Amino acid sequence: MIKYVKMFVVAVLILGVVVFGDNYVKSKQTANIIHDVPGWSWVMGGKVVTIDAGHGGVDPGAVGVNNTLEKNINLEISKRLKLLFEQAGCQVIMLREDDRDFGTSSKLLQRKREDLAYRIQKATESNADIYLSIHTNSFTDQRQQGPQVFYHPESVEGKHLAQSIQTSLNKLSTKKRVAKSNQTYFILKNTNMVAVTIEVGFLSNPQEESKLNQVDYQGKMAMAIFEGVGNYLAAEKPVINND
Ligand SMILES: [Zn+2]
Repeated sequence: MIKYVKMFVVAVLILGVVVFGDNYVKSKQTANIIHDVPGWSWVMGGKVVTIDAGHGGVDPGAVGVNNTLEKNINLEISKRLKLLFEQAGCQVIMLREDDRDFGTSSKLLQRKREDLAYRIQKATESNADIYLSIHTNSFTDQRQQGPQVFYHPESVEGKHLAQSIQTSLNKLSTKKRVAKSNQTYFILKNTNMVAVTIEVGFLSNPQEESKLNQVDYQGKMAMAIFEGVGNYLAAEKPVINND
């Protein structure tokens, strides 16, 4: 019997992390969405993709040097991702599609805990093939820039997915980053989802903040993530399981 054997750890984002690097972002690839998407249908059709647009509502996430709110960038890119995956025949589960959080408490810390618990529960229940957590970075050093993908160190498939997405994202930036494992990002759950967290860029870098606000760049970012997922799925090999 042939099965796709998947052993991972699955995961939900908790905190932002700090990374390194220091070039300016220069997008140089124009993705032709209409042209590219049908080519992925054979590998993406029927897959379930859960997209978690980080933060929202009372929680703005990082705030840019020119006051861009992370929650808005995360949502814009997530919405574009949804369209791409749906066009390729995926079932897409969005944890949020508007500016909201999932806490009810009037105390902020408690509210964030409630929000996180909700996202973990919904993500786990979605039992998706792929889980994408979308965030935007910030750091005290304004020179830091470039998108970066994170995976849990115990997840081999998460690493493969992260590396594939990173390869696509590096086409958008002069700063070529490497996908990294990061345990503090994740809460472990035992499900079959392959999970990654994508930091789409640095709001603390004025040039990158400006780019992340541009509709054209948001579309390229979504296309690059989509392409990375497609390449990962296309490379996925069935494993013979004799038991
Ligand atoms: Zn965030």
